[in-house]
Amino acid sequence: MSADGILRMIEENGIEWVDFRFVDLNGKAHHISLPAVEVGRDTFVNGVAFDGSSIPGFKGVEDSDMVMMPDTETVYADPFSAHPTLIVMCDIYTPDGERYDRDPRGIAQKAEEFLQQTGIGTVAYFAPEPEFFIFDDVRYESGMNKSYYEVDSEEAFWNSSRKEEGGNLGFKIRHKGGYVPVAPADTQQDLRSEMCRIMMESGLRIERHHHEVATAGQAEINFRFDTLTASADNLMKYKYIVHNTARQYGKVATFMPKPLFGDNGSGMHVHQSIFDGDTPLFYRQGGYANLSDTALYYIGGILHHANALLALTNPSTNSFKRLVPGYEAPVNLVFSKGNRSAAIRIPVAAVTPKGCRIEFRTPDSTSNPYLAFAAMLLAGLDGIQNRIDPRELGYGPMDRNIYDLSDAEKRDIRSVPSTLDEALDALQADYEFLLQGGVFTREFIENYIDLKRAEAKSVQIRIHPHEYSLYFDC
Ligand code: GLN
Ligand code: MG
Ligand code: MG
Ligand code: MG
Repeated sequence: MSADGILRMIEENGIEWVDFRFVDLNGKAHHISLPAVEVGRDTFVNGVAFDGSSIPGFKGVEDSDMVMMPDTETVYADPFSAHPTLIVMCDIYTPDGERYDRDPRGIAQKAEEFLQQTGIGTVAYFAPEPEFFIFDDVRYESGMNKSYYEVDSEEAFWNSSRKEEGGNLGFKIRHKGGYVPVAPADTQQDLRSEMCRIMMESGLRIERHHHEVATAGQAEINFRFDTLTASADNLMKYKYIVHNTARQYGKVATFMPKPLFGDNGSGMHVHQSIFDGDTPLFYRQGGYANLSDTALYYIGGILHHANALLALTNPSTNSFKRLVPGYEAPVNLVFSKGNRSAAIRIPVAAVTPKGCRIEFRTPDSTSNPYLAFAAMLLAGLDGIQNRIDPRELGYGPMDRNIYDLSDAEKRDIRSVPSTLDEALDALQADYEFLLQGGVFTREFIENYIDLKRAEAKSVQIRIHPHEYSLYFDC
């Protein structure tokens, strides 16, 4: 939509507020609202000034004047505000009119421009599949934040006091049993449907929703693929709607990768492909899983740079509590068709040439989607440019369930880092591929590593609840 289109929309729909949004380094949205009567054509030319000094990951007070430039294509009506409000996503500029080099959305756009500069293709498509948990909002009921839950076994879970003191002695229905069961085991059908209704009204194309594998209240809603930046914008909208719909229902939604020990975590698998105009570049009939050489090299790039990449796609201490064997979260750096224990899966069911794509399964929703998608594209393009063949480097294809392999068989398979610090070490040692086309700057990466190291340290110095059960009676 054009700026004029937005101004007309304000007039015709009695809009009272326009909410200008941008995204910080951690992928969190921030907003400033202007009365709609104060919004004119000049707002879309000059932008909206804001103070960038208190935004996580941005520069300090000495360099704090920033400008939000609205991207008029992104406008939608706020489904939650009591006052008619339009939301519009913005790019960040310096007061001199330069693109701000730490704006994640600007980095995502630069990655798309770089793809075109390489001449490899014209467009990359991304489809994230975010999973999340919906819990009762115990913070408000009990005045405490029960942020530490432990489930040693499924049996222990059903008998646990998580839902009621004394365990389930009343032969009540389980929260959920098995994968995608119908109601009453699935208690969240209506809530997910309501989330989807609001998403569709807000312009997302919804493909499906379902209960996820975890024993209690894990959900997944899938929206249609789009180009890199647009897909990240869609994800911001998706999270906003999930969080706020849950809240309206007295629930709380979390995208935290591993909220429950001993149960499945929440991933954000990311499907990816590259096209040249209308021509899909990842498809070649007859190849392994009908993959072209371009697709194989893309896979090679992702797996070759995976350890560093995870600092951006799995950038929290909690991320690495999800990446453990046994919960459908990938641990091993191999690719495979169909095999969900592999870091890269090639979907083969009901796939057309245009739908031919790779699914990178390690990412999670603590990542900033703009940075994570840009970094994955750069890793893949590096693989294509340097013909990194994953088959020659021992990355598969591996069609057996990796969890079932013997130790000897597993010895040659590389696995993901086991902590955020390890991923940051890997990024420190391997980030040249992110500097291609000036998409990321060295200064950005160094600052990112410092911030994330401090975050990891802040967790590491705190006393863990499990330490009490191990050491309290020493
Ligand atoms: N929850 C799993 C993960 O952590 C994925 C489960 C699935 O989508 N089949 O990635
Ligand atoms: Mg899925
Ligand atoms: Mg899933
Ligand atoms: Mg998936």
